[in-house]
Amino acid sequence: MATRQSPRPSPSPPVQRVALTGGDKEIEETSHELCKTFEEMHLKDELLRGVYSYGFETPSLIQQKGILPIVRGRDLLAQAQSGTGKTATFSIACLQKVDPSYHFTQALILSPTRELAMQSHNVISKMAKFLKGLNILRVVGGEAISETARKVAEAPQHIIVGTPGRVAHMIYSEIIDVSHLRIFVLDEADEMLSQGFKDKIVEINSNLPKNAQTVLLSATMPQEIIEITRQILNDPVQILVPRDELTLDGLRQFYVAVEKEEFKEEALFDLYDSIQVAQCVIFCNSKRKVDYITEDLRSRKFTVSSIHGAMEQEDRNRIMQDFRDGKNRVLVTTDLLSRGIDVQQISLVVNYDLPMEKESYIHRIGRSARFGKKGIAINLVTEEDGQMLKDIQEFYGTKIEEMPANIKELLQLK
Ligand code: ADP
Ligand code: MG
Repeated sequence: MATRQSPRPSPSPPVQRVALTGGDKEIEETSHELCKTFEEMHLKDELLRGVYSYGFETPSLIQQKGILPIVRGRDLLAQAQSGTGKTATFSIACLQKVDPSYHFTQALILSPTRELAMQSHNVISKMAKFLKGLNILRVVGGEAISETARKVAEAPQHIIVGTPGRVAHMIYSEIIDVSHLRIFVLDEADEMLSQGFKDKIVEINSNLPKNAQTVLLSATMPQEIIEITRQILNDPVQILVPRDELTLDGLRQFYVAVEKEEFKEEALFDLYDSIQVAQCVIFCNSKRKVDYITEDLRSRKFTVSSIHGAMEQEDRNRIMQDFRDGKNRVLVTTDLLSRGIDVQQISLVVNYDLPMEKESYIHRIGRSARFGKKGIAINLVTEEDGQMLKDIQEFYGTKIEEMPANIKELLQLK
């Protein structure tokens, strides 16, 4: 059981520990070296300044384990729970390795969604603030190809952060030259190597120099994906944030039972008063349902925004920005936002629908409780969902309890 002490006495149930790996499969760790401070990593001065000015003081465990092997040129397979700092692990390592005086693209970082690629581009650009002459380019779908081509023609783009479809297209069209690449990073690697993306990744990989190193990171690593990684990794260093530390002490999970689908709306309206205290993401399983729920909430005069993959990119960008700025506090979405999105103020995740895949569950609820913060996940479940709820609990060895009456108080306990 968790040992975190509440600052004031609370009648709430004990905090649950949630193992945040992909069920019972974990990769086998091959390196136990730790680098406990950023100084000890012997980073370039300008980079160290960038890291500190970004607000980091000490490296998280995954950073202590992961940065140096990448800097040394090794392939890496890293598994660490949501919200533990995987972005900075690959960002700092890439910035350390890339040489601004060498006028070629040297690092390529891919993410499964445009929103996540934009977020990573933003983080790495900020950390690179003091590194002179280093250019980092964003290459995602929904943006003008001509604009990317112009930037590439204008100056060397040392690091590219993008989504697979657009990057593959740019390589194929010879707008981007990856023939001098040194580091290839796949964030959310299990998703990137699953059916939807695998062919594009293999295609991109086939264009890279044979000696480029490959870095794969994710919170979840299903066994069948580990098999696939064997084909693209060369004698990788494998690191794992061990299961004991893969627990979010601050994350509580509840369910609200409704008899059938039609009653979920009422359950959500009942919750709404409580939801308002937090910044919240509501997940549905289809775009159509996202639209429908959003309309319905608005018709009841609730303020809510929504985002999904069928919307115009400009609208997606604006909605994400407003949500990051706290202008929108409640966001209804699909699994588009289930992976990687980091908004520290999110303290509540509502699964209007339970996800279809068990892996998604851990990614979705991992949008809250970022970097040791507190969070709550509430699942609306019909009688039909009973089995899936049971399966999720077994898969993650966790307990999802019935939502208590004092949920509003729990949400206010920051
Ligand atoms: P992951 O990709 O592992 O889910 P992120 O890279 O998105 O996690 O990081 C989660 C949050 O933790 C971010 O808000 C990030 O700024 C913060 N964070 C990461 N590393 C550190 C650190 N060493 N010190 C302070 N905050 C950190
Ligand atoms: Mg991430």
